[in-house]
Amino acid sequence: MKLQINNNYCIRCGICEDLYPDLFKRNYKEHVIDILYDEIPKDKEERAVQAAADCAVAVIKVIQ
Ligand code: SF4
Repeated sequence: MKLQINNNYCIRCGICEDLYPDLFKRNYKEHVIDILYDEIPKDKEERAVQAAADCAVAVIKVIQ
């Protein structure tokens, strides 16, 4: 499983990093949200799906 963020529509609210700091980190230099894993570890997949559901503007996509 992978996660993808559409940075064209991400509003940089930071909710994803606040709730899931093990998956996301604000990248202040490039003004984007970094996903900490290319391939989401099995034990974090449930959180990754939840993170996608919790995104304020639904720009986090789960790729199976
Ligand atoms: S929760 Fe969604 S909109 Fe907010 S910073 Fe994360 S990816 Fe962007």
